[in-house]
Amino acid sequence: MGDRPKLPARYEQVKLLGEGNFAKVYLARHMDTKEEVAIKVMDKEKLIKLGAVQQIKREIAVMRRLRHPNIVQLHKVMACKSRIFVVMEYVRGGPLYRHIPANSGLKEDETRRIFQQLVSALTFCHAQGVYHRDIKPDNLLVDEHGNLKVADFGLSAHADTARREALLHTVCGTPLYVPPEVFARRGYDGAKADAWSCGIVLFVLAAGRKPFRDDDFITLYRTICRGDYRCPRTFSPELVRIVRRLLQPNPAHRITLLQIKETDWFKKGFKEVSFYIDNKDCLRSLDGSEEPDLCDSDSEDETAMSSSSSGSSSPVAHGDGGGMHTSVSAPSLVNLEKMHIAAARAPEPRIRRIKSMNAFDIIASSPSFDLSGLFEERGEQLRFVSSAPVNTIISKLEEIAGQVSFTARTKDCQVSFEATRYCGWPARGWPSSDVECCVKF
Ligand code: ADP
Ligand code: MG
Repeated sequence: MGDRPKLPARYEQVKLLGEGNFAKVYLARHMDTKEEVAIKVMDKEKLIKLGAVQQIKREIAVMRRLRHPNIVQLHKVMACKSRIFVVMEYVRGGPLYRHIPANSGLKEDETRRIFQQLVSALTFCHAQGVYHRDIKPDNLLVDEHGNLKVADFGLSAHADTARREALLHTVCGTPLYVPPEVFARRGYDGAKADAWSCGIVLFVLAAGRKPFRDDDFITLYRTICRGDYRCPRTFSPELVRIVRRLLQPNPAHRITLLQIKETDWFKKGFKEVSFYIDNKDCLRSLDGSEEPDLCDSDSEDETAMSSSSSGSSSPVAHGDGGGMHTSVSAPSLVNLEKMHIAAARAPEPRIRRIKSMNAFDIIASSPSFDLSGLFEERGEQLRFVSSAPVNTIISKLEEIAGQVSFTARTKDCQVSFEATRYCGWPARGWPSSDVECCVKF
């Protein structure tokens, strides 16, 4: 990937923000709205070569689902022939580690404030059955108000532990934030693993250094498993107690994040933030099926694509004319309507809350999270999804066609546009060719 990749239409590149395992993240500005966003650019071929396609799909699906003031908000996902673009909220303050004074750390009140936000975001994720599993300071960002934003759900809820460990060891650099039970390959609980990583982050926030020596893998493994570290004298006794309970090598004895929330140290000045879940269905399942049904008949549908995480109903979107298309597939509008009718007719299912769902389950159980279109090539087609009724979309298309001197013809849920392109207009003004395009539902 070159240093100045072509960004999606109407976005201009401002600068490179960071580089991760599979992606480069750029600060970009929308030419019309002037809105600044962070765009994560991934090379499709590289993802396929590294076997990371499923991981990226999961990351996108998880980010779309989680809305919390301390979680980076995903705006939309686009793709062109060779790249995937994840457009996110731009977090101005950069990575958290840049804000921690080396070897002295933050003051305890400031440490607590950041830690409260981290625990709030993670307990929210856990309540949805999503485990981040890659909590470390470079995946934690700070906004212009000094508030924490959890980023990079690339390894979240990875179903295959062995593969995740391989990933951690090969591409994620130091395994400092990996709990002992993951090293020991004993299988692990995602919530407890996140709690361990939070313990490391808490230590780093307050001390300005890492708790364990990570000169080499063996030393790190040994010191982690023994719980061999010393808290600086500047830590209050309450803080030491919390760190000890989080950095407990035995996960069975490790405090949970929910229990942390009940401690007096944590509660000081803490206000539970308000947030919402994008789609309540992610907490629901039809009675009797522990595993959500993986074979969704609507997921094969190919007529429409989702470009936005907001579920907004703008029927009009644009590509760059160079084969750019939006990327996240979803049921077609017609099928969405069918589904609504079917849902209205179906007997009320007994709803029960699933105790633990991982991101894979969430994707599998929700047809609108079928991301298979991400890697499909469909020539010059652009695909969009909208929750607006078909008639509203058709009238909007006709209205816009009129404004740009196209002729629109509507037949059987299909709108065709025709216009004549003028070469060098207005200087010469010779008609050169007919331009035609068609929108199908
Ligand atoms: P990877 O999955 O490849 O590790 P990340 O999502 O962690 O990629 O992004 C890499 C880096 O880009 C981060 O460490 C951070 O510095 C920067 N970054 C990522 N997302 C944003 C964002 N929304 N706003 C500002 N900087 C970001
Ligand atoms: Mg990262």
